[in-house]
Amino acid sequence: MSRVSEMRIGLGTDVHQLAEGRKCIIGGVEIPFEKGLLGHSDADVLAHAVADAVLGAARAGDIGKLFPDTDDEWEGADSLVLLAKAAEKVRALGYEIVDVDSVISAQAPKMSPHREAMRENLARALGVEKESVGVKATTTEHLGYEGRGEGISAQAVALLVRCSSS
Ligand code: MG
Repeated sequence: MSRVSEMRIGLGTDVHQLAEGRKCIIGGVEIPFEKGLLGHSDADVLAHAVADAVLGAARAGDIGKLFPDTDDEWEGADSLVLLAKAAEKVRALGYEIVDVDSVISAQAPKMSPHREAMRENLARALGVEKESVGVKATTTEHLGYEGRGEGISAQAVALLVRCSSS
């Protein structure tokens, strides 16, 4: 019988508050900045959005369900490890990760010097080529919580395909 390819898309979004005394880790890159992201794990807002996009496409829940913030195991966790586990989970369900794109909304710090390293980190965690991972950034023109520097948000989309004989 013919091979049937089933394509799925997923959307992920995340927000973390900026706070003093925290590291600013985005896309697995520690960015020198006066504040960092607050959260149970390392609060990598971009890795979390990408993980939710990938999990969403496979209808496999979300990172809040997989790695609850009530679980001490994930306290201070490297979010690239969480992302790799999310990728493992969707592969176990028979999906291949085809393409990912993302955008970070932050007034500061500047993301462009770190974009290539973020793409490499995310791609490695996902087990895909760097070319399959997009990272963009925007300010919000000083509007909203990102614009006031209170927090940083990220959105991501993922395209997955499942190949099965039927
Ligand atoms: Mg998060």
